[in-house]
Order: sequence, then C-alpha cells, then structure tokens
Amino acid sequence: MTSEATPATVRSALADRIVDTLIHRIGKDERAARKHDWLEATILTLRDEIIHKWMASTRAAHAAGAKRVYYLSLEFLIGRLLRDALSNLGRNEEVGEALASLGVDLAEIEEIEPDAALGNGGLGRLAACFMESLATLDLPAYGYGIRYVNGMFRQRLDDGWQVELPETWLAHGNPWEFERRESAYFIGFGGEVTGSETGQVRWKPAEALDAIAYDTPVVGWRGKRVNTLRLWSARAFDPIRLDAFNAGDHIGALAGQARAEALVRVLYPSDSSSAGQELRLRQEYFFSSASIQDIVRRHIQYFKDIRTLPDKAAIQLNDTHPAVSVAELMRLLVDHHELSFDEAWDITRRAFGYTNHTLLPEALESWPLPLFERLLPRHMQLIYAINAKVLREARRTAGIGDQAIAAISLIDEGGERRVRMANLAFAGSHSVNGVAALHTELMKQTVFSDLHRLYPDRINNKTNGITPRRWLLECNPCLTALIRDAIGPDFQDDASKLKALESFANDASFRERFGAVKRSNKVGLSNYIKESMGVALDPDALFDVQIKRIHEYKRQLLNIIETVALYDQIRSHPEKDWTPRVKLLGGKAASSYHNAKLIIKLAADVAKRINSDPSVGGLLKVAFVPNYNVSLAEGIIPAADLSEQISTAGMEASGTGNMKFALNGALTIGTLDGANIEIKDHVGDENIIIFGLTADEVAAKRADGYRPRDAIEGSAELKQAVNAIASGVFSPDDPGRYQGLMNGLYDHDWFMVAADFDSYAAAQRSVDARWADKDGWRGAAIRNVANVGWFSSDRTIGEYARDIWGVM
Ligand SMILES: *Cc1c(COP(=O)(O)O)cnc(C)c1O
Repeated sequence: MTSEATPATVRSALADRIVDTLIHRIGKDERAARKHDWLEATILTLRDEIIHKWMASTRAAHAAGAKRVYYLSLEFLIGRLLRDALSNLGRNEEVGEALASLGVDLAEIEEIEPDAALGNGGLGRLAACFMESLATLDLPAYGYGIRYVNGMFRQRLDDGWQVELPETWLAHGNPWEFERRESAYFIGFGGEVTGSETGQVRWKPAEALDAIAYDTPVVGWRGKRVNTLRLWSARAFDPIRLDAFNAGDHIGALAGQARAEALVRVLYPSDSSSAGQELRLRQEYFFSSASIQDIVRRHIQYFKDIRTLPDKAAIQLNDTHPAVSVAELMRLLVDHHELSFDEAWDITRRAFGYTNHTLLPEALESWPLPLFERLLPRHMQLIYAINAKVLREARRTAGIGDQAIAAISLIDEGGERRVRMANLAFAGSHSVNGVAALHTELMKQTVFSDLHRLYPDRINNKTNGITPRRWLLECNPCLTALIRDAIGPDFQDDASKLKALESFANDASFRERFGAVKRSNKVGLSNYIKESMGVALDPDALFDVQIKRIHEYKRQLLNIIETVALYDQIRSHPEKDWTPRVKLLGGKAASSYHNAKLIIKLAADVAKRINSDPSVGGLLKVAFVPNYNVSLAEGIIPAADLSEQISTAGMEASGTGNMKFALNGALTIGTLDGANIEIKDHVGDENIIIFGLTADEVAAKRADGYRPRDAIEGSAELKQAVNAIASGVFSPDDPGRYQGLMNGLYDHDWFMVAADFDSYAAAQRSVDARWADKDGWRGAAIRNVANVGWFSSDRTIGEYARDIWGVM
C-alpha cells in the first residue's frame, strides 16, 4: 500500500488500541478525554499486554513445581508505576510516539499518576525495590501487604508547620490493580478457645471480617518476569444487619462495614491512644492471617502435602510487623491440619526468615499481653507453648543464666507483661538478618546477644540495595545515556559493570559532559522549586541535600545548626571566598513526634531568614521541600552534589538514600554508620567525606557520662549558633520557640549533635575546598557512580535467594 500520509498522521496499531481502550473501558472519545483518562487508557492498554507475561510467569512456576518467595511487609512504597513498567518493558519510545500521534504528551501524563504512598520510609521502599529485583532475577514471588485507602499522610507546610492531610491516591481509581473477589479469607478477632491441649482445639472468634485480595503486576527488567503484589482490603462479613436497619438503626446496621473500612484506612494509625494501638495490632494480624492462609491454600492446591511447605515456600518477614504470622501458621498447622506441635514448629521455623531493621529499643514492637490475649486468644496459647519450648532449649544450653533466659523469653515480665514480637520472629525463623554489616554486628552484641548465644547460626547479614532501574535508568535518563555512550549498555543488565566507568574519571571531556548532565538536572530541580515554593536557586551552587524521614537520630538538627553557623560566618567575613551553597531538606515527621515537627519548623524559619537576607548575597539558600515521597526523591537525587548521611553512628541500620545519591554522582558527607561504611569501602576513602564519632566511640562516650554542655562551651561556633536559635533570632514572632529544643542539647543530647559538631563543620569546609576544584569533584563523583553497582538490590536479592530462601 502506498500512502500520502506524513508520519505524524499515521496512527500505529498501539495508538489505535489506546483509543479503543479509552472508548470501551473508560467510555469517552478522544475529544472528551482529559489527561486522567489518557493516563488510565495508557495504563490499561499496557496492562492488557502485561497480563500475558504475568500468566506465563505463573504457569511456568507451576509447571516447574518451583519454590516461591513470599515477602510480607506492612509497607510497600512503590511510587508511580507507569514509567517503571514502560522502561522495564522497553516500550518508552513506542508509547511516547503513539500518544504524541494522539496529541498527548507521555511525560505530562506520567506526572499526574498518583504516588502509591503505602509506606513511610526506607523499609517500605526496600520492599518495593526487592519486588522489582525478584521479578528481574526471574524468581517467582509474591509481595503481601495492606491496600491502605489513604496510606501515608500528605504533608503540607503552613508557615513552616507540618500539617497532615489524607493521601487520596485512589481518588481516580487504580487501573493497575485487579480485585479478586473470589480470593476472600475469613479473619477472626476475639472470642474464646474451647477444647483441651490434647483434644481438638477450637477458636470461636467473636468478630469476623473478610480479607479481599487486590493484585498489582510487578514487571521485572526487560519484562522477563511479572510477579504479583497482593494487597489486602477488608470487607465486613455481614455488610448490613438488615434487622437493625429495618428497625430504624440505619447507621448501627452498617457498623461492621465501617469497622472493616477503618482497618485498612491508614498506615500507622496514631498509637498515642490504646484504641490506636489496638487498630495497629488488628492490621498486623489481618494481613498476616490473610497472607498465611493464602500461602497454605496455594501450597495444598499445587503440592497436596502440607509437610512439604518449607520446600516450596520461603516466607520473609520485613521487620516484626508481620511476626504474628509465626503463630498464625502454627495455628493452621496444629488446629486445621492436625499436625503435632513439634512437627508444626519444625515446619514453621524452616519456612520463615526475619529481617531486623532497627536496634532502637523504643522501635522494637511489643504488645500488652491483655490486649494480645483479648484479640488473639488462640495465638496467645500457642505463643506460651512456643515460649516454653524455647526456654527449655535455652536452659539446656551452656552459659545461659537466668538473666539471659529473661531476655530470650517471648514475654517481657518486667513491669506490665508484654509480648515481644522480635523474639517471636527470631525464635520462629531459621534466618535472622540485619541490613548492613555494622548493624548485623550490633544485633549480635546488643538486643539479640542472648538469642544469638542460643541460636548462633541464625543471624546473618544482607546489606540493603536499591533497584538501579528506578534509581538510575528512569530517574536520570541523561546520565544513563552518557554512561551508555562511554561504556556501552551492559551496565543496564548488571550494575556491577558500572565499574568500567572508573577509567573515565580522569577523562577531561567525559568530566565536562558529566558536569553538564548534573547541571541540567539541577536546572530542572531549580525550576520545580521556583514554581512550587517561589525560591530561586543558583544551579551553579553546590546542592547539599538531606531528604529522609525527620528523626532526631538522623540529625537534621546537626545540619540546620551548621547552616546557622555558616550563615553567621558568611556575615562576619563577607570578604572570604565562600562556596555558594543550596541546602535542601525534606521529609515527614510522625504526627505525634513533637521534636521532629519542631525541627521542620526550625528549618523553615532558618530558610526564611537566610533567603531574605541580602548580606549573604545569594551565597547560601535554604529550602525545606514539602511532601517528600518517591517521586520527589526521583526528581531531587539526580540534582544533588552532596548527600547528607549524618546519623549518630550505630543508629541507622543501613540507609538506602545514601546508595541512591552515590549512584547518581553525589559525594557523601557521612558518619561511619549503616551502609555508609560499605559505601566508603567501595568508592574509596578519597571519594567520600567521613566525620564524627564511630559507633564504638558513641557507646563509650555514653558509658563515660557524656557532658554535652562542655562540648558546646568548647566550640565557639556551635555555642554561637545554638544560642542564636535559642534566643529567637530565627523566630522573632515567638522567641522562646526553640528554647526547649536547644536546652535539650545542653542537658542530654542523646544523639551527640554537640559531640560531632566541630568534626562536621570542618568536614563541610573541606567540602568547600574540594568544590573549588571542579575537575577533582567531578572525578570523585564519577568514581562514586562507577563503584556503587554492588548496592543494586539484584545483588541483595541474589544473596537472600541463595543463603536464606534456597531458590537460586
Ligand atoms: C530511599 C527512600 C527513603 C529512605 O531514605 P534514607 O535516607 O535511607 O532514610 C525514604 N523515603 C523515600 C521516599 C525514599 O525513596
């Protein structure tokens, strides 16, 4: 056929399919379609293609009788999915062109896809990176979590104060998911247990609801495999009590449905009330029970014999939130499959692995025993029985005395009795892993020292990773193209191949192009910040970035106080050759965390004062970017020159933000904490800026009776900055606002801000000096990119697969 049409008016078959989807599935024609309709039509069209790969993946796993990996996590911080799916399927250009022929800009509709904010921070993002790597490595896997209707709150700043708003990510529906009405599981709460230890035990819950599955496809790199993220929603067992409704109690008749909906409403309901605590425990049991029932059902369907479960299912607990799964599997094995307790325990231990994410004592989950027993009476019995067994083993083990027995016990007997979820997870798993080398070492030495003595082969390390698809190829296309130009495309399939870039660190022309890419990313971010916040940034300044949850151990306060000190220095010595700097901060504070919220307000107050002070002459700009989430991270990280990873040593389990920044060519200023240590080992001491106390030194200082007041008195710069903040220089509308926060530094300073200040400030001045040497800086940045391929989550998942799950 010959055609006179120009390429722009030729519609591809793909464009026709998108229009077809628009008409038949959304019910609009091209003229009526709005951006959201195009987004939905594009996703649905793509999803139709993904489904075939998805089913093929499931069939292949079934045919091979493959062992499956089950990743249980209360959080999946997956962010937007369209760009991810397009990129992994290699369909970016084709879909972009098809949409262009319809007058639609792909980049524009990608931007309006809501961020699936089903997580809070690193732990949830890790789960998302792991899901992508599991599919990429062609491992059959399911992620299990909760389909929160509102998820994590959206953050707005009102005059610098954090305001929490509901995240309405489902407002336009969710074209990615499939509701599986047929996959419903009965979830009970409360009631009573009948029968004896020897006879048939029956749990008769007083309350019940249904868990309904929603499945989202997870596409691996190059579309090799598509796995399932299965998120549970709740539905009332009796949606309406018709008798009550007919009797005129219209609201009361619907209370069951309201209770079910409350269960899946938000991530981390405030636990400052006992009702909030109870809701949280209900959420944990709800998704654990649904997931374990689903795993057992699938196993019986495919393999018939429940005894082979550990050969065919590896269940990983992402922190202790799903730890009640251990008791739930025991319940199903003992009460429903009628196995002996000992056999059930053997199966359970072989099936589970547990990942620990924190050593902070206040973050180790435990539940008041009366609450646990009231909500889950049968599980409480089983936990007592498990505990008796574990403590018998402990007593038979040499060197374990009464104090160690008390620490190993699943029940905390000191004060109000509580159920310790970390001990349950530890006892019920064959593998317990930390998430960076230092963290794993500290697990052995501190919180789990006694359990480690009892089960010395159980603790192992799996240093975290990030998916280089989202965190390089998708978020930084210009850098990706530049790397491809230099070393060819192999690094896209194997991040360790980035190593070949090392030899370009001394190549003047490559450095130049690398600098140009970074600058264009900084221009892009500056435009965003100008538009959204009205703050003008100089793209030639050093972009110094700290984005992460706001927490005292992460020490945003150290960064802000140093910023104040620098501001003071610039004003006192305007004649000096200061390095122009942009300080960017972002992150959410837990809604009940007073100091974290005050730190956000301080950042905003400091920014307001500095940005409007003509005497700094634009040498220093500060911005707190609201509503930090995955999409914002994808915009900010490629534009960063300096990555702030400055936690008190020993307190950040791993960090993954640190890895994302290094992969995008930022230098790290950081403490010897978490994965920073391993990043240093990979990039080399010359290409990272390390400061501050080590974990051992922090511990020793605390033991010796640390006196922060002396540290403050001993540092003129620190004292000046702290006193300026305390006296209201940055809060003239409320001069006492920061007095308490600053007094806290003088009095206890648990996070060692004062102890590390001078070292940090000196490190920052060394950064200034390095920045002046543009070639040197770029060379170091290139060496970072070249040497952090090891932090790919493909490497991490490979290690889990071999060492823990036995699937590779
Ligand atoms: C990577 C990431 C985190 C974790 O950052 P850390 O610096 O390791 O705490 C948190 N939130 C989002 C949105 C992320 O992408």
